[in-house]
Amino acid sequence: MTAQIIDGTAIAANLRAKVAAYSADVLARHGVVPGLAVVLVGNNPASQVYVRSKIKMTKEAGLNSIEHMLPETATQAELLAVVSALNADPSVDGILVQLPLPAQIDADAVIAAIDPAKDVDGFHPINAGRLMTGTGGLVPCTPLGSLKLLQSVRADLAGLEAVVVGRSNIVGKPMAQLLLAQSCTVTVAHSRSHDLPAICRRADILVAAVGRPEMIKGDWIKPGAIVIDVGINRVPDPAKGEGKTRLVGDVDFTAASQQAAFITPVPGGVGPMTIACLLANTMTAAAKRRGWPDPAL
Ligand code: NDP
Repeated sequence: MTAQIIDGTAIAANLRAKVAAYSADVLARHGVVPGLAVVLVGNNPASQVYVRSKIKMTKEAGLNSIEHMLPETATQAELLAVVSALNADPSVDGILVQLPLPAQIDADAVIAAIDPAKDVDGFHPINAGRLMTGTGGLVPCTPLGSLKLLQSVRADLAGLEAVVVGRSNIVGKPMAQLLLAQSCTVTVAHSRSHDLPAICRRADILVAAVGRPEMIKGDWIKPGAIVIDVGINRVPDPAKGEGKTRLVGDVDFTAASQQAAFITPVPGGVGPMTIACLLANTMTAAAKRRGWPDPAL
């Protein structure tokens, strides 16, 4: 079997276009441009690239981008003051504090300080609890995007065996909750799991969110499975030249493609969905807070 590629770049572009259409509609109807505030602390190069990309796509979708850049030496009190001002600002619909934060700042305290109604990353304990209890709320962007990719190839996931490798608060745990809500039978594996290959071979849906390059081998994949590779790992690429690198996922893509029915590539799979879902979450938050119809993105 040669797997069909799930084109995250195209699906994300489609979602961003829907956000832009909704944004144009609310501008015409209500004269309002929803706003997404991004707060970056320090000089982490990966975070800087990611934030630049978020700002660009926010503007392209017709949303207002509000940017706060704090120095590496910023204190927790300074960051909390920025969050508090954004919470109180009625023109701000979504607040995103880019992680990781410098060591002197307690990320959990900062996340807890964000108004849950504006928590477009979905990391606030209230939103985590709402996801767990199935009572609405904002859902973390990467798992939400992964679910949308799954649903692009199979509308009804009920009864399928799903294995999520990784149990972080950002990806693994919310992914497991989303799959449970779709009536999958969910297993969450992690670094202490015994016989990971055998666990993975049970999976009709395999979501890899580990952060280890190509750890999941082709013969761990059940024939016909749907494979969602969340991992983004930079590895040396001597074929390109001395010191050159390339991105790979957590799954051995070439070998897994011989087993799976559908698979996401890296890059071009889950990655583009994360920002598209951030914009969608901003619209969802704006609609709920401002009393507009749910954009159902
Ligand atoms: P974390 O480091 O927070 O979590 C990694 C998880 O993998 C942990 O639960 C860990 O288990 C588990 N793990 C580590 N080693 C093994 C192993 N040998 N066998 C089984 N499980 C293992 O990472 P994140 O969840 O934040 O991110 C995971 C990957 O996804 C990374 O590559 C990251 O770059 C990528 N990512 C991609 C995004 C995107 O937009 N596409 C967004 C966010 C992340 P334990 O809990 O036992 O330590």
